Amino acid sequence: MQQQKSVNLLGLDRKGMEALFVALGHKPFHARQVLKWIHKHGVTDFTAMTDLSKALRAQLQAHTEIRIPKIVLEQPAADGTRKWVLELACGNRIESVFIPDGERTTLCISTQAGCALDCSFCSTARQGFNRNLSAAEIVAQVWLVRTLGYSLTNVVMMGMGEPLANMEAVVPALSIIQDDLAYGLSKYRVTVSTAGIVPALRRLRLLSDVSLAVSLHAPNNALRDQLVPINRKYPLEELIPACRDFIAEDRRRKITWEYVMLDGVNDSDQHARQLIRLLEGTPSKMNLIPFNPFPGTDYRCSSPERIEAFRQRLMRSGIISITRKTRGEEIDAACGQLVGRIADRSRRLPQVVA
Ligand code: SAH
Repeated sequence: MQQQKSVNLLGLDRKGMEALFVALGHKPFHARQVLKWIHKHGVTDFTAMTDLSKALRAQLQAHTEIRIPKIVLEQPAADGTRKWVLELACGNRIESVFIPDGERTTLCISTQAGCALDCSFCSTARQGFNRNLSAAEIVAQVWLVRTLGYSLTNVVMMGMGEPLANMEAVVPALSIIQDDLAYGLSKYRVTVSTAGIVPALRRLRLLSDVSLAVSLHAPNNALRDQLVPINRKYPLEELIPACRDFIAEDRRRKITWEYVMLDGVNDSDQHARQLIRLLEGTPSKMNLIPFNPFPGTDYRCSSPERIEAFRQRLMRSGIISITRKTRGEEIDAACGQLVGRIADRSRRLPQVVA
């Protein structure tokens, strides 16, 4: 295997990049030039960075690198959705999904190889957990898709993994995705989706300004404990106030709740009523996600009629609710179908909280 240099510039945000230049004995403003070369122009060859001195280019060449994971598979679906499978060093594979929808083009990116949270209806969970992605590996997914010529209006951290279990890499990655010198996406166009790691959520609010999606899936603790086991550690009475606080300073903001529709499990009128009560006073938008089946699962998706009745009930109570279209199903690109390939699936985080 090729020996790895220590700093992959792809994962340094403006602050990190400035610190690097200072450490190399240069002015911090070079960070601006290099960010633009890498992220705006897609340049990975230091010799092409013509507004840097030759000496500085040589130093970057010696001490840093711009390393991009390899695309091992690119799969288009009939509806325009496209999935890329990327191979990281050490053989882990992760997946990114491009979802065009009219004017909006969204890239769904992964933040971990596998996932340790073990949600009972998610196929990524079946893979087990291998490791956190680095900031460079998270940003590389955006870099690659942009470099292939796709324009992106939105980025969602909703692929494989739990973003809030990987704060150290997710925070600089968000900062790069939002930086005008890189991808320049506004806080309304960058979304972090979490199963609800409450302390990390409270920390994220101080470190990043992003939109928040929360995988709710159940309106009470007893059921949520089964579907989303992290709920046993951070139950609804802690999660909901943390979500409310997250958007407290911006009155235009809402929490996007994700709710997977599982036949006979969480889809009754009574569940809808509980949900309405639970979310009272929290500015909310509900995304109902038809369950995407995968081999070996016992769950079934609620019928379209049940989903619509559930949705109508929420709408009548004033919660804007949409049923998410299933996209890219035939290429296994839909929610909960991303499995990648984990080099060692036996590894688990000793504890998933930061
Ligand atoms: N760990 C993060 C992000 C990854 S999951 C989180 O939990 O939010 C992205 C979304 O897909 C989550 O809402 C997740 O609960 C949902 N999902 C997982 N498996 C699914 C399945 N089989 N069918 C439909 N949605 C699923």
